[in-house]
Amino acid sequence: MYPVMLDVKDRSCLVVGGGGVALRKAQGLVEDGARVTVVAPEAVEPLEKMAAAGRLVLRRRTYQPSEAAGYALVIAATNDHDVNTRVFADADDAGIWVNVADDPELCSFHLPGRVRRGSLQLAIGTAGRAPFVVRRLRRLLERRFGPEWAEWVSAASRFRDRVRALGLAASEQEALFDNFFEQTIDSESLRARVPNADEEAGWVSAPVDHLTESGVESGTPDACRDAVNGRGFVSLVGAGPGCPGLLTLRGRQRLFEADAVVFDRLAAPALPCGLPAEVELHPVGKHAGSHPIPQEEINALLVRLARRGLRVVRLKGGDPYVFGRGGEEAEVLEAEGIGFEVIPGVTSGVAAMAWAGIPVTHRREAVRLTLLTAHEAVKSDGPQVRWDLLAQDKNATIIGYMGVTALPEVVHQLLGGGMDPRTPAAMVEQGTTAAQRRVVSTLDNLPAAVEDAGIKPPALFAIGPTIRHFENLDWFHRMALAGERLVVPDSAEIVTRRLEDAGAEVVAVPFPVTPAARVVMAALPITGCVVTSPAEVDWLHEERSGEGWSNDVRSWCVGEKTAARARERGWRGVQILEEGMSCDRIVASISALRR
Ligand code: SAH
Repeated sequence: MYPVMLDVKDRSCLVVGGGGVALRKAQGLVEDGARVTVVAPEAVEPLEKMAAAGRLVLRRRTYQPSEAAGYALVIAATNDHDVNTRVFADADDAGIWVNVADDPELCSFHLPGRVRRGSLQLAIGTAGRAPFVVRRLRRLLERRFGPEWAEWVSAASRFRDRVRALGLAASEQEALFDNFFEQTIDSESLRARVPNADEEAGWVSAPVDHLTESGVESGTPDACRDAVNGRGFVSLVGAGPGCPGLLTLRGRQRLFEADAVVFDRLAAPALPCGLPAEVELHPVGKHAGSHPIPQEEINALLVRLARRGLRVVRLKGGDPYVFGRGGEEAEVLEAEGIGFEVIPGVTSGVAAMAWAGIPVTHRREAVRLTLLTAHEAVKSDGPQVRWDLLAQDKNATIIGYMGVTALPEVVHQLLGGGMDPRTPAAMVEQGTTAAQRRVVSTLDNLPAAVEDAGIKPPALFAIGPTIRHFENLDWFHRMALAGERLVVPDSAEIVTRRLEDAGAEVVAVPFPVTPAARVVMAALPITGCVVTSPAEVDWLHEERSGEGWSNDVRSWCVGEKTAARARERGWRGVQILEEGMSCDRIVASISALRR
């Protein structure tokens, strides 16, 4: 195999087939500027949309003999072997490069796995022999090459133009290029740093022999190594309130680039299950029976990991700076001279209320929102909350974090300050997760109602006029699968989407099961699992003794064989889903058993 990178801009390319694989191939070609024709009697919706938007031409019919001969490049991705064979033969006879997806025999070229960072592209291939190697390596490299490489490549290309304009001898040019590389890339961590204009100007004007003496030949100078990655980097990331979909895009990106993740108990459900097994996982939250790790130890751990030169994500529930001691961790990193950033998260006080049907502000009703920590506020030392002032403000919402044990004292203070005892008030436990519960009452009655319901942390209270909307705006509990927490193979993407749309929390587990997936499964009670093959039953069987699992978990098995294996393994609550069942019927079957 001889690798090349083709310039397909404005070239006519043919994709035969209208399914998901054809879609990906067509998208790739369109992104790179090719003029793409798709031939298929039926096409998936995104292809239809691309055609409607004029991004490609869609011919809704079967492939016609010799059609392939008129194109510069041909890809076939139908599920009909005869059609694929004909396309290959037509193209090959006409001397045109052709690829048939998943059929190495019918390929005159292979499509590599690729990692793209701006104009830098890494291509990976195994001549079609071991696609799984390509897939795994691509994931690994995706992680190693951070997004900063895109900007770095642009800078490198600008630098090259500048140097070429100087009219130096070839060896002098090369020395400047080498210097640029050495000064900006850490060869161990593969982190790239985009130099600023002054630095570049300095390198361009420096005498070449000086460059060689100072480092190019003797390796990267220490100070530069530090700047690039020598002391690692910490991202303080907000995990959101619990629902995995409420982690931000940037937070997720940092997790996939991380070498180590230090996470709290409240952040555990948001950990992406697909994190590769090589990523170090450090739980620092409270675990059943054991005490939380003291803050000083967490700080020291962050410093230690960063000093090893690792990319560290400190994953914290909600937002790192909202009652999360994120400020203290940032101060320690600053004092230790370790680079850090803060990626905010969706704070639970706002999100849990939204899930409970409570808008935290509302025009003409609540024009102020107070977030407070009830736990700190009722202590006798330290800063105090002015309950007396809050009690007087009718058009406001109070949200109390860490408020379960402090609630009676808070209510006592507010009533003492003259607040109307009939003010609507609510408590939400495990907001935005499948385990969410809410209690709605009036201010004077809330502590009793919370006790009756047996509400436990993590929970938040809300007090204020907007709480009265809770029934009318209760979108979450109305969903067919609200409250279900289902373990589903991560390959079943379409089913996963439907289950989530119906209100279920889905733990999308890769097989073999990753350490991250184990953490996520253990974070909250699981209500059911979906397995699609006997092999998946075997993989999951090992996990079922873990935290999160119980005898009440229902097992939805696709096909008789899968169900038979589950029964053999002694699983209880085995339910059968017919093979090829539509997603809607799967959702209906799961929801029917809830009644
Ligand atoms: N930084 C977090 C708050 C940490 S303090 C944030 O921005 O959300 C921990 C408190 O947050 C808990 O005691 C509880 O009051 C609240 N909390 C966090 N997640 C919650 C959830 N899913 N449901 C209800 N309360 C939650």
